Amino acid sequence: MSAEHIAIGLVGYQNGYKSKLLRAFLNDEEHALAFCSNEAQIFKCASPDAACYISRKRGHVGSAFCAHPGHESDRVVLSKDVSLLDFPDKTVYASTILGGMFILDGVLILSDAKLPFARLPTVELIAAASVLNKNVVLVQSMKDPIDDTRILEHHHEITQLLTGMGLDEALTILPSTSANSNIGALSTRISNMCTAVYEYHAPAEMIIMDSCIHEDQGTEKTVLTIQGRVLKGVLKKKQQLEIRPGSFSHDDNGQIMCNPVIINVATLDSIGGNDQLEQAAAGDMITVRSNIDYEQIGGIVADMSGFVIGHVDSLPDVLSALKLKVILLPLMFDSYTEDFKEVSIIEKGEVLLVTVGMLSAAAEVRKVVDETTVVVTLKSPICARKEDKVLLLRSANVCWRLIGHGQIEDATVIKIGKAIHG
Ligand SMILES: [Zn+2]
Repeated sequence: MSAEHIAIGLVGYQNGYKSKLLRAFLNDEEHALAFCSNEAQIFKCASPDAACYISRKRGHVGSAFCAHPGHESDRVVLSKDVSLLDFPDKTVYASTILGGMFILDGVLILSDAKLPFARLPTVELIAAASVLNKNVVLVQSMKDPIDDTRILEHHHEITQLLTGMGLDEALTILPSTSANSNIGALSTRISNMCTAVYEYHAPAEMIIMDSCIHEDQGTEKTVLTIQGRVLKGVLKKKQQLEIRPGSFSHDDNGQIMCNPVIINVATLDSIGGNDQLEQAAAGDMITVRSNIDYEQIGGIVADMSGFVIGHVDSLPDVLSALKLKVILLPLMFDSYTEDFKEVSIIEKGEVLLVTVGMLSAAAEVRKVVDETTVVVTLKSPICARKEDKVLLLRSANVCWRLIGHGQIEDATVIKIGKAIHG
């Protein structure tokens, strides 16, 4: 049984609520929050009277009927597979959260309904989500039903903010983990999220969220484990895959070139490890394992967050300089004064952080062509295509803050050297 796969990022900067919300959503009091193995399924009730949705942990067996009063004989049918990814709480990790947004369909921003609503990183997340066409749900978490004027005040503040940012409707919901919680409304929001339109017949391509290597005690082989989201085509077990950018070297003329890595897929699993797969299609979140030669590629593949893996010889180019069409946001957040300040124009020589896909790279502004066009040199080359969207961040008080977005108009492509077989 499989359904459309939705990937959601969880961001909660008033901590402690992610686990509670997740347990309620998964209908599993025992669930321990993990970075990316929080898998759920949303079921829709077949009743024509009301649109009820229920959610539970993937792999858990539950009732085949709706629990809503009067719907006892209405069956529930699988609507969506949902992966929830836990993103860091600290606002200094803006680039990680914003980069992660690229592979997500939506993001849940959690806050404590009784505490004043913090605008950071919410405002940045909403701005980035709108640039990347992702869904946002603000969740105010509370222990009891509304019994406090502060909750209503904070709800009003968030609603005003969302309306002010041009969003059609206030996306705030008020769930709790009690039996009469509003989790069903959250399931409805998630199930109704717009998702990307995938090219299933294109050569396979996946973005890597996380990777690690370990020694298998039984076989004494070195195993590379990669977790990611398939963005195009279909990945198959036993398939040979290429990883870019891989490592870098210099040619005889001293020019930098990239050496992609080639691996063989040993196993494919769903990201939580519940299902072994023969293949995975665009939209799926999966774990790929490969037995590798540590001597050859061990040093390259240990941390590949943001790298791209896919069909050999079909991955995007590796770029070292970008000509960007940029649009600056009117305001950026100043974490010193905890208020917004005007975004000043981009200047030649300044160093920005450019986020493309899940990869962020420091980028020195080499040329300001006009108000909307800049040329930047990347400190570490990235794998991307012309017309890809980028997010621009500027350093402010030791952390990077979102100042705008853009699109790759042109780029300097690095030569692809000999691939390294792992
Ligand atoms: Zn129902």
